[in-house]
Amino acid sequence: MARIVLDTLRHAYGPAPASDGDWALKRLDLEWEDGGAYALLGPSGCGKTTLLSIISGLLKPTEGRVLFDGTDVTALPPDRRHIAQVFQFPVVYDTMSVYDNLAFPLRNRGVAERDVDARVREIAGMIDLTHMLERRAAGLTADGKQKISLGRGLVRSDVNAIMFDEPLTVIDPHLKWQLRSKLKELHQRVHTTMIYVTHDQTEALTFADKVVVMNQGEVVQIGTPVELFERPQHTFVGHFIGSPGMNVLPCEVSGGKALIGGIAVADCQTAEATGPVRLEVGVRPEFVSFVEGGEEGGLPARTVKVSDAGRFSIVETQAFGHVVKLLVPEGTRIPSEGVLRFDPERTAVYRDGWIVN
Ligand code: ATP
Repeated sequence: MARIVLDTLRHAYGPAPASDGDWALKRLDLEWEDGGAYALLGPSGCGKTTLLSIISGLLKPTEGRVLFDGTDVTALPPDRRHIAQVFQFPVVYDTMSVYDNLAFPLRNRGVAERDVDARVREIAGMIDLTHMLERRAAGLTADGKQKISLGRGLVRSDVNAIMFDEPLTVIDPHLKWQLRSKLKELHQRVHTTMIYVTHDQTEALTFADKVVVMNQGEVVQIGTPVELFERPQHTFVGHFIGSPGMNVLPCEVSGGKALIGGIAVADCQTAEATGPVRLEVGVRPEFVSFVEGGEEGGLPARTVKVSDAGRFSIVETQAFGHVVKLLVPEGTRIPSEGVLRFDPERTAVYRDGWIVN
């Protein structure tokens, strides 16, 4: 196992990158603690696979260094980095038995057959494959095969990290949650550094202790699921995480207040605009209330749509031409007109996308 540090990393696929858009990864400084459970979360094309390939050694970064426990491994090939990878599509040898598939990485490294046997049986027990060790892998379902891939990642005790690249893509929806919770349980048992790449927030938030959120080649926030929910550092995180995502509304800042349509909606001491900047207020639907009457202030709004979301309703309102969503418990009376109030503890002002207070 190792602490992995990415030091001032940048990567461009083309020669002579000139503009920001030429970089698949913009400047990146990141530290993955030894034994941590991480998710790398972001939309398609944000640079997740590029970053994984740089850590595993399949790709050499244009700039910067990769360090494992303080040792520079930037120039080392994949086989010298001891990274196990589990891909979207299971990599199994169909003609071999489940047992031989699991044993393969160990036999390949010359591990004694007695130790191979002990380890294969231990891992098979963890991933519920004990009863099918003698079966040929060819006959297994997609989730069975993905379990083998997983087992092959776990079977080696000399790996620095295990990386999962969208490992549940081909798994039936009703089995996904089983494998997802299995992975979490496995991490708690083996304590190997795990990096789970996905564009699915549910997968990221249920697996990881820390989530690294990426957008357009840069990391926009690293945090626990709770931190990402309660205090998004960037409007992108607010949008991308949560269902529905955070409300992001253009505002002005004056006299220490953020104003929408001239009405104060949040405190803001530090973001008076002194140039061509974009100022926005961000508040999650969970922290918006909507009441009839407006003696005590608030943003005048009217209800335009109500959708049922299980125990909650999503209420879509319109205020000064902006859509503002809020969540209310099922059965709550929803006014057709009223005022919106934002919880001051959970409302933030963003300047050019980044949080300012
Ligand atoms: P996905 O979830 O779709 O796999 P991703 O987040 O993994 O996306 P990357 O595959 O790392 O993103 O791509 C990051 C950027 O680099 C994208 O703009 C992509 O078009 C570009 N890119 C990726 N691989 C190559 C390549 N081999 N040659 C040129 N450009 C590439």
